[in-house]
Amino acid sequence: MTFRTRFAPSPTGPLHLGHAYSALVADRDAKAAGGECLLRIEDIDQSRSRPQWEAQIYQDLVWLGLSWPHPVMRQSNRTAAYHKALAKLDAMGLTYTCTCRRADIEAAAGAPQEGVPQFGPDGRIYPGTCRQQNHTGSGAIRLNVEKALRGLDTLTFTEVGNLHYGPHLIGKDMFLREIGDIILVRRGMAASYHLSVVVDDADQGITQVTRGADLWEATQIHVLLQALLGLPTPTYHHHDLIRDETGKRLAKRDDARAIAKYREDGATPEDVRRLVGF
Ligand code: GLU
Ligand code: ZN
Repeated sequence: MTFRTRFAPSPTGPLHLGHAYSALVADRDAKAAGGECLLRIEDIDQSRSRPQWEAQIYQDLVWLGLSWPHPVMRQSNRTAAYHKALAKLDAMGLTYTCTCRRADIEAAAGAPQEGVPQFGPDGRIYPGTCRQQNHTGSGAIRLNVEKALRGLDTLTFTEVGNLHYGPHLIGKDMFLREIGDIILVRRGMAASYHLSVVVDDADQGITQVTRGADLWEATQIHVLLQALLGLPTPTYHHHDLIRDETGKRLAKRDDARAIAKYREDGATPEDVRRLVGF
């Protein structure tokens, strides 16, 4: 099987040093394996994505000396694929419509109890309000995780990065307690981040997912969705995050760290590569 990884930025702001690092790690892994590194534009959230940020992504990556196969997959063109995956989960009886607003979820969550986690990788752990309601019409779509896990064997994946190197087993009890009913479709979006990433990685034949360690927790969700949809689970490389002098992780909107800013200030691509350890 050809090694294939990807760099999958969201065009919601300028690429910063952390993105440069992620793209370079993915590119290096692909070259080392004699495979390829794809670029995917994750513009699933159309309310935050902007064409000028997408244009700047191409510009920044070319400037860094990176190239990628064409055509580039863009999530805004992928609605049909997401709907197909959703229909499959729907036919398995694993989805339900959730009409809760954020405030409803906060109110239903009740007082925090000791030892019971309140937040997971998908935000506040959903209290299950709409699970048995058979709502029709508009709302978000959630996965009934308890029901989904019932039919599955153990969930596993392999991490190749240093931070969490090795095989990982995903416990069903942990999933129920610490993650809960995840969102498959957000209001006003074609799919959630989780569903779109899983469907896209499979359709692109990705054999290794390369991304920052900030998405480590989300991987459990992705492995579950792969199992339910009958898709292969790639290996994972969660790399460390680039931090500033104070140890704070570089936020996306941190303009001072934008690659374009370095370029404007006269830095060379080699300077930027060196700054992130390449
Ligand atoms: N689009 C995501 C981001 O920019 C990355 C998704 C992924 O690599 O799975 O943070
Ligand atoms: Zn609800």
